[in-house]
Amino acid sequence: MNALVEAVNLHKHFHGVDVLKGIDMTVAEGEVVCLLGPSGSGKTTFLRCINQLEIFDGGRLYVDGELLGLRESGTALHRLPDKQIARQRRQIGMVFQRFNLFPHKTALQNVIEGPVQVGGVSKKQAVSEARELLERVGLSERADHYPAQLSGGQQQRVAIARALAMKPKLMLFDEPTSALDPELVGEVLAVMRELAADGMTMVVVTHEIAFARDVADRVVFMDGGVVVESGPPAEVIRNPQHERTKTFLSRII
Ligand code: ADP
Repeated sequence: MNALVEAVNLHKHFHGVDVLKGIDMTVAEGEVVCLLGPSGSGKTTFLRCINQLEIFDGGRLYVDGELLGLRESGTALHRLPDKQIARQRRQIGMVFQRFNLFPHKTALQNVIEGPVQVGGVSKKQAVSEARELLERVGLSERADHYPAQLSGGQQQRVAIARALAMKPKLMLFDEPTSALDPELVGEVLAVMRELAADGMTMVVVTHEIAFARDVADRVVFMDGGVVVESGPPAEVIRNPQHERTKTFLSRII
């Protein structure tokens, strides 16, 4: 299978503090990878580098074989022009802990915003696709509701529909359920499970161990800016090899 995401010796520092210390990771097309690890281990930063919300300082990141953010000419590296970066970013959907919907727009208007404003899709087509997506996330009845009229779980499902509206090759989820009341977590995870079953490539930062165990093809455990271990969930979750993984899992399971 093709590598859809490939990180090679990825480094990122903030104000001289190394946060990613040489991450090597491959995500195959159609694969669901869950990133686990204690707070501060660099998981969010890694996702933000893939989506170019952060500029990495060293190493390389490829999505679908294309080098992100940089152009190589000979041995020199140059930043890509903003327009090219915007094009690369459009291939990637991201869902945040906080849903980040436009508060003054309805669910439907939130979903059509990207395709109409930056995707060059006609409003008619965008509306028709958005209605399908809202149905897919179980919200066809809520298309005309504003975010404030929706529960947190419903808002997060709108946020997933909004990301899907750009027809991304890859979906990144950054703790998508951690801001939700416990009774609303299941409905968001159910939508993510369906997306995984439909073959979407997904990288998910989560503390939902049951989700990781049931849905992930691979679990990657990060700590202190490095990948400590990775493998099938049955191995990493049930039989972790490293002390740091054991300690982390014993705290959250
Ligand atoms: P995780 O997602 O595993 O909790 P993060 O990637 O959010 O970890 O953070 C890793 C480290 O990087 C933390 O120490 C955090 O304080 C630091 N960090 C993250 N973003 C920034 C930033 N924009 N400026 C300075 N430090 C940051």
